[in-house]
Parts: sequence; structure tokens; C-alpha cells
Amino acid sequence: MPKVDLQHLQNMRSHFETGITQTYSFRKKQLLLLKQAVIKYEKEISAALYADLKKSAEEAYSTEIGLVLSELNLAIKNLHSWMAPKFVNTDLANLPSSSKIYRDSLGVVLIISPWNYPFQLLMNPLIGAIAGGNVAVVKPSEFAESTADIIEKIITEIFPYEYVHAVQGDGATVVPAMMQSFRFDHVFYTGSIPVGKAIYKMAAENLTPVTLELGGKSPCVVEADANLSIAAKRIILGKFINVGQTCIAPDYVLVHQSIKDELILKMKLSIEKFYTVDASTSYDYGKIINENRFDKLVSYLAEGKILYGGVHDKRILFFEPTLMDDVSLSSSLMKEEIFGPILPIISYNSTEEALEIIKQNENPLAFYLFTTNKKTEEQFIKSVPFGGGCINNADWHFTNHNLPFGGVGNSGMGAYHGKFTFDTFTRLKAVLKTPNWWDPFIKYPSFKGRLRLFKWIFR
Ligand code: NAD
Repeated sequence: MPKVDLQHLQNMRSHFETGITQTYSFRKKQLLLLKQAVIKYEKEISAALYADLKKSAEEAYSTEIGLVLSELNLAIKNLHSWMAPKFVNTDLANLPSSSKIYRDSLGVVLIISPWNYPFQLLMNPLIGAIAGGNVAVVKPSEFAESTADIIEKIITEIFPYEYVHAVQGDGATVVPAMMQSFRFDHVFYTGSIPVGKAIYKMAAENLTPVTLELGGKSPCVVEADANLSIAAKRIILGKFINVGQTCIAPDYVLVHQSIKDELILKMKLSIEKFYTVDASTSYDYGKIINENRFDKLVSYLAEGKILYGGVHDKRILFFEPTLMDDVSLSSSLMKEEIFGPILPIISYNSTEEALEIIKQNENPLAFYLFTTNKKTEEQFIKSVPFGGGCINNADWHFTNHNLPFGGVGNSGMGAYHGKFTFDTFTRLKAVLKTPNWWDPFIKYPSFKGRLRLFKWIFR
């Protein structure tokens, strides 16, 4: 595979400009090829996810491979109708013209992904890029090495390198090298806020549009009227799947003071039920990605009282599911995205108090509320500006491809999944078509004396 230098990127642009990648038959064929390859390499992908994050085959399938296949199936099935230009109404001033919206391909796009769901967070945007008729450079995370290798292997095997190209290496080196020498037509970035800002700055130099899928602190509120047995199970699964290394995991729990003890008791029981009393030997419990992240997580343990867990072993990058109490709102545990298996539990006495605490970390990527009261539900949904979320659940909104997935403000911009991914990787192109058989003189100067008529037309 040739190096991705400026010449190669220009070759990719020339390839895009041939128009080959924009036909329906080409796009569909590539999506089918990708689907076949994912099926063919399912075992290798699963093994790579185990090597990088100790994900079980079942978890790898339900949180990565299966989601990719489901997005592929949706795109393959709907591509034709997604691509078709859509007629829209025409206003009176323009009648009898007709109005249509086309979906234009963007060109050469760059997709940058993180290590936590290293397969699907790269493949799902790539599906949209292909469906959109683009050519793509993809940059998997260097921290999920095995998955990056299998991604590169698949892409190299099925796609010509001037069509889709995988670039590996240190993101801080290879991404600026590309973005500063070449004008991409879109950058789709998933990762941390600081790097997201750096990407946004580089993109601004070329007025390149971006989608930023970032992180942040996602609150999980448990109201006094919640079904606690259900809440405990769903919060524990949402938090500790992938060892808490999930961008939309409940970052901290805000629980009504009156039910705090009961919720904690039920959460402890759920942890032991799901991961046994020794999670280090659990089939369903993975590992921390690397020593840097491990050390960071260990440092959080001093910032409160450990209610459950806290055991960790650097040799195997094991970090027990951990519940923490007495955590100060000004501690780094409550200011930074935890991104690991530590769940601070903060109590509140009124909805207003809960909302104030949430405000300390504006624009969460996700928001979860456990309540049986519809009014409370509406109040929180209206009051908290969050990307997406669940009522009486956690994380699962991500998997419904009929819901747009994305952040707001600090947690990012733009959205994808399902048809929304296609929309992200295409541009709306408006066309008004006017017939020649009717050409009223009132449309041409002099306009003198037609003010009343114009007021009526534009009423
Ligand atoms: P990261 O920002 O460190 O890395 C993400 C990607 O950016 C990697 O491919 C990396 O190589 C590249 N990169 C690193 N430094 C760069 C630089 N200076 N310039 C250009 N590219 C660079 O993020 P991460 O640690 O891999 O992922 C964790 C973060 O991602 C968390 O904040 C998490 O919330 C967020 N995340 C968000 C979503 C979402 O959908 N919103 C999903 C998963 C993870």
C-alpha cells in the first residue's frame, strides 16, 4: 500500500472526479463487498477486539460487528431511495417551475476513530461515506492495534487504494500531516474534546465541514419514584459494558436522597450477578485499554469513599466495577469524563438541585433518567441540552438507527446512524427547473406600479 502523501490524496481526488464512485451500482457493489468481508472476517475481528479490549465474542458481535452489519443491511436496502432526488413544493412566485433536492457526494472524506469501539466507530461512518458516493481515508486508533490491523486488511483486500485507504500510526502526527497539506471535503472525527478542537481548527483553515462526535460527562438521574430494581440493572449494564470505556456510559449517578441506600444495594447485587464477585475472572468483563488510562483511573480512587470495588491489577489491566460515594463536585472525578469503571453516586433533594449539578458539565453527550412520572420526564428533557438519551434505560438509544446519534456544544456537532449517516456524507443540492412555455412579462423590469401585486404574491 502506498504512503498517504499529498500525491496520493490528489490521486484520490482525481479518482473521485472520474464520477465512478458516485453511481448507484458502484456504491451498492462496494457496500455488498464490505458486508461479505465483515462476514468472512467475523472471527478475526472478534479476536482482535478480544486482544485489544478483552471483549467476549457475544459482546463484540452485539456492540460492534452486528451493529455494522445492521447498518450495512439498511444502507444496501435503502440506497436507491436515499439517492433519489426529492421533489418539493414550489412557491407561487416561481410557478410553474418545479423544485428538486439532489444529494451530492462530498468528495474526499477523512474518518478518524477512537479505540473504545474501534471497529464500529470506524466502519459505520465509512458505510455512510460509501453510500454517499465519496472516496475515503480512514484513520483507526493506534491504541486498538489489533482491530486497526484487521480493518486495514479488509480495506486493502476489497477496495482499490485510491478509493478507500486506511492510514495507521500516531494520530497527532499523521492526521495534521494530511489535513495541513490537503483540503478534505469533510472530516468525521470521533474522540476526545481536546483533539476534536484541534481537528476543528485545522479544518477551519480550509473551510472543511466537520462532524465531531466527542465525549463528556453523561449524567444518570434516578428519581424517588423510579423502579429501582430495573434502574439498578440497566445502569450497571450501561456503565460497565466495555469496562466503562463507552462514550455514552452513565458517567455519574444523581440519585434522590430518599432512595440512595436502596439503589446502591441493588446496584451491588447487579454487579455481582453480571460479573460475579471476582470480575477479573468474568467472561463478560473486559480490560482497560492501556497503562496510561489505567493509572488515570487509579488516581480517581483517592477522590472519595469506595462503596464497592476498587480492586485493580496493572499486570492484566483489570479494574473492578467500582461505586464511589462522598465525591466532591469540585474534584476531577466530577469534572473530567471518567471513561472507565468508576461510578460516583451523588445525592440530591430536589429536581432543581439535580439540574444545577448537571449544569456544571454542560452539554452532555447522553442523558439518562429513571422515573415513572411523565411530567418529570418532560421537565428534564426540556431543561437539559444533551445529545441523546433514554428514559428508564442507558446506552440503548445508540443502537436504534432510526434515531440520530450525536452531541451538542461540548459533546460535538452533527449526527449519524442509519439514514442520518448518508445525510452527513452527502450535501443538499437545490435545483429549480423553469419551463420555457410560460414567461410572464411581470417578472421583468420595469417593475413600476406592481408593488401591490408583489405584496400579494409574497404574502
Ligand atoms: P483521542 O481523541 O485520543 O483519539 C481519537 C483519534 O484521534 C485517534 O484515531 C487518534 O489517533 C487521533 N488523534 C489523536 N491525537 C490527535 C491529534 N493531535 N490530531 C489529530 N488526530 C489525533 O480519543 P480516544 O482516547 O481514542 O477516545 C476517547 C474519547 O472519545 C472519549 O472522550 C470518548 O467520550 C470519545 N468518544 C466519543 C464517541 C462518540 O460517539 N461521541 C464515541 C467513542 C468515544
